[in-house]
Amino acid sequence: MQSPKHIMIIGSGFAGLSAACVLAKEGHKVIILEKNGQPGGRARIWQQDGFAFDMGPSWYWMPDVFENFFALFGKKPSDYYELKRLDPAYRIYFEKDDFLEVPGARSELAQLFERIEPGSSGKLDEFLKQAEYKYRVSMSDYVFRPSHSITEFIDLNLIKKSLKMQLLGNMRSHVNHYFKNPRLRQLLEFPVLFLGATPQNTPAMYSLMNYADLVLGTWYPMGGMQQVVKAMVSLAESLGVEIRTDTEVVKIEVDQNKATQVKTNKGDIKADMIIAGADYAHVDQQLLDKPYRNYTAKYWDKRTMSPSGLLFYIGLNKRVPGIQHHNLFFDADFEQHAKQIYTSPQWPEHPLFYVCCPSKTDDSVAPEGCENLFFLMPIAPGLEDTETIRQKYFELLLSRFESITGQNIRNNIVVNRSYAVNDFKDDYHSFKGNAYGLANTLNQTAFFKPAMRNKQVRNLLYTGQLTVPGPGVPPAIISGQIAASEAAKYLNSLIN
Ligand SMILES: Cc1cc2nc3c(=O)[nH]c(=O)nc-3n(C[C@H](O)[C@H](O)[C@H](O)COP(=O)(O)OP(=O)(O)OC[C@H]3O[C@@H](n4cnc5c(N)ncnc54)[C@H](O)[C@@H]3O)c2cc1C
Repeated sequence: MQSPKHIMIIGSGFAGLSAACVLAKEGHKVIILEKNGQPGGRARIWQQDGFAFDMGPSWYWMPDVFENFFALFGKKPSDYYELKRLDPAYRIYFEKDDFLEVPGARSELAQLFERIEPGSSGKLDEFLKQAEYKYRVSMSDYVFRPSHSITEFIDLNLIKKSLKMQLLGNMRSHVNHYFKNPRLRQLLEFPVLFLGATPQNTPAMYSLMNYADLVLGTWYPMGGMQQVVKAMVSLAESLGVEIRTDTEVVKIEVDQNKATQVKTNKGDIKADMIIAGADYAHVDQQLLDKPYRNYTAKYWDKRTMSPSGLLFYIGLNKRVPGIQHHNLFFDADFEQHAKQIYTSPQWPEHPLFYVCCPSKTDDSVAPEGCENLFFLMPIAPGLEDTETIRQKYFELLLSRFESITGQNIRNNIVVNRSYAVNDFKDDYHSFKGNAYGLANTLNQTAFFKPAMRNKQVRNLLYTGQLTVPGPGVPPAIISGQIAASEAAKYLNSLIN
């Protein structure tokens, strides 16, 4: 190996932590600078009166990505946390006392499909076989590419595979081609919400997410998603990474197309290489002088961002029988809500929402006899965010929850905190207050995404949910791995 270099990573989200681990293993001196008081980025934890709330991600999907990451260091997820497969994986409510639950076992899933749409279990097999193909090809041939340009994808073998990936069709038509029943269609379109776009705007290639959902399953790390952050922090520190919290980068200084140091609220720090895991738009527009920015303000304004969210972290002094760990309230018109997120951004009239209740699986996240609830309502990024608006929706979501589940909870609330657009901006420098980056639409996929490399500054790279491969915890971990490998290429080029 060449002599160790000083690598500065901005942001301690999954992408930053992942890149840090890989580069530290190669012998480099890695420092992560994090503006908040706690590592983990969007996956921080908030604790209050015996309740422990995961502030962001709650769905642990694609367990193979976590296994492959830890395997790079001779470790397994089970060295750090205990995983439980949730069965049922989740519940979808359509109206009061009317819901379906997604079972873990494939045979039960087939029965569920048959019950709802006779004759559909065979189609499900076909659909999932194709989804599995897409998942496997994506994992082996697509997602680990830095996607600097289209030329990376010009390879006869890859082109042949790409033809089967349905890059040009969309998820809506793909699902509709196989299934007629609106509920099954809704169930199969649901994972698209993780990609931040509508089913009409998401390439059919992403039915790979149905394989992740229905075959690989929904898992839960006991202790919450925070355990994954802890695991990565512990791994990083064991490899010599230094994590400096409460340290905000305010400028990246460049001399002759080379980043030389970062200015922080705690002084200047020199670096041989910088990897920016903070929100890309913030780094590009706020931390760099104009000549070194990859994009203009207009470019950013035209991106389709993933939604923001209105969230409530709620502690109850009683248990709520009848609900599951993951509960989707699809008792409203998805099209209308989607329009109010993407087409004419405004606060939704009849929103869909999601309620996570991890205390159903894990006693450690709430005091005895209590329940830990996390409400999430997707909204357009950049909306006006006031206390009055939050309160209005709090009432609306509570009423819907109570009437659909038949459970009264409003008199049992002992902890209550809201979180929305302004908090995303303040806490993460999130562009327009987006919750999970850039939507995975066709024209924002692979080499159409904001580039991982800075075009002017050779030793500056970007990682995380606004660049390749996209939003979500597994993609952020992969993004960090790609950035680390690109950084290693650059550092190697210095000695060759
Ligand atoms: C409410 C919510 C629910 C979600 N649900 C899921 C889910 O269930 N499953 C799933 O897989 N994904 C989910 N996601 C998406 C997932 O959490 C993210 O895609 C992923 O965590 C992003 O990681 P990241 O490293 O790219 O960015 P981040 O986690 O945002 O990390 C970036 C870090 O940079 C720091 N930073 C910013 N500016 C500076 C600066 N100037 N100086 C120093 N530090 C700075 C920030 O504080 C932050 O810690 C969810 C996200 C949210 C918000």
